[in-house]
Amino acid sequence: MGVKVTKFGGSSLADAGMIMKVKAIVEADATRRYVVPSAPGKRNKADQKITDLLYLCHAHATQGVPFDDVFAIIAERYKQIVADLGVDLDMTPLLDEVKTKIAGGASADYAASRGEALNGPIVAAALGYDFVDAAEVVRFDERGRFDADATQAAMSDRLGRHERAVVPGFYGATPDGTIKTFSRGGSDVTGALVARGVGAEVYENWTDVSGMLMADPRVVDNPRPIKVVTYKELRELAYMGATVLHDEAIFPVRGAGIPVNIRNTNEPDNPGTMIVPSNGAGEYAHGVITGIAGRKDFTVIAIEKALMNAQLGFGRRVLEVLEANGVSFEHMPTGIDTLSVVVADAQLDGKIDTLIDELTSAVKPDAIDVSPNMALLATVGRGMAHTPGMSAKLFGALGDAGVNVRMIDQGSSELNIIVGVEADDFETAMRAIYNRFVCE
Ligand code: ADP
Ligand code: ASP
Ligand code: MG
Repeated sequence: MGVKVTKFGGSSLADAGMIMKVKAIVEADATRRYVVPSAPGKRNKADQKITDLLYLCHAHATQGVPFDDVFAIIAERYKQIVADLGVDLDMTPLLDEVKTKIAGGASADYAASRGEALNGPIVAAALGYDFVDAAEVVRFDERGRFDADATQAAMSDRLGRHERAVVPGFYGATPDGTIKTFSRGGSDVTGALVARGVGAEVYENWTDVSGMLMADPRVVDNPRPIKVVTYKELRELAYMGATVLHDEAIFPVRGAGIPVNIRNTNEPDNPGTMIVPSNGAGEYAHGVITGIAGRKDFTVIAIEKALMNAQLGFGRRVLEVLEANGVSFEHMPTGIDTLSVVVADAQLDGKIDTLIDELTSAVKPDAIDVSPNMALLATVGRGMAHTPGMSAKLFGALGDAGVNVRMIDQGSSELNIIVGVEADDFETAMRAIYNRFVCE
């Protein structure tokens, strides 16, 4: 009989009532043998995520500011959950140890990881499963880089000895035991690693929406659900802002061909979204899109120089300046006499003046124009490939909505068309594309 790995996100574990829903889901299927919990998330819109509070404690500690009040909120949340569940666990010594270590200068990664590390034993006790610390099975190398091979070896060895186990998400450790976390939302990655480690038949990712939706539900009202999506499409959508699944969670399962099923803890009968290899994706119609995702906070640096197309090495010199400054870029649309680079603002971080100076001396442009406050929108779908008229439809929708398109980039796979618009036009643009492709 196959094995299912189930990952539950923060809102699915926000209080004892939610953990009871999780228990019912796990118990409903005996093959749900491995469970990856996040830290408790928000119980309602105004609530705090435990992970955010832990980062806050760490920030206070590094400034030498007391963080007793913030830590008290964290301690209270866990104690309340344990009391309401009625499990036999004394959280006090565990919480005291975490507080002492943060006060003693432990790293941000250590502090943040404790959200999951403390929640794991609680979920394990509620389910009657063994607890396996992620520090023992999610491996990073001496330099703090994720080590896929060591992780796979540790996972299959260690989990092979547990019939049913809980492995907390988000973190792992280096050989000397130093705790490292993935980037935010990284419990999705842990779930994928456990799924690969035990050779799961499916990786179930349980969250607070009934699967992946065709657009961001915070922008478009009631977007339609996506029933089946390929790994490639999912990666495009996730990277571009459909944050329902961490964009790096796809790699471990893709290699092993394990499908991912996104499900809703509050609506367990809904089949959700299946994420599958391309050849398992079944029928789709030409001209139909799979979804739209987008992100704000990009800057476009446009470099203009007459006859640049004839200058050998022009592009290389531009990219060398970026590389030398540790800036990676997202897109590089080019014209005859212009070349633009699109960079996420998080990459720029006060470096824009240096970049302009260095670009000026490296390629002696006629002009450099910097446009901040850009948003990128990706319209993604395997049904878009080799279908004429897709871009006309897209630009027609944006034009009719009065959105000025500042940049266009179509991936060579024809799986997506990416447009750059003013950040202020982001919501209008997403709704316009959704309405034209999905509702008309
Ligand atoms: P979890 O805590 O379970 O990991 P996340 O908050 O990380 O959950 O991801 C789920 C959220 O992703 C949803 O509540 C929704 O607001 C957001 N989201 C953004 N884009 C999409 C999309 N295209 N489909 C579904 N959810 C999306
Ligand atoms: N708790 C971590 C975060 O908030 C990891 C996760 O939830 O996936 O980012
Ligand atoms: Mg998440």
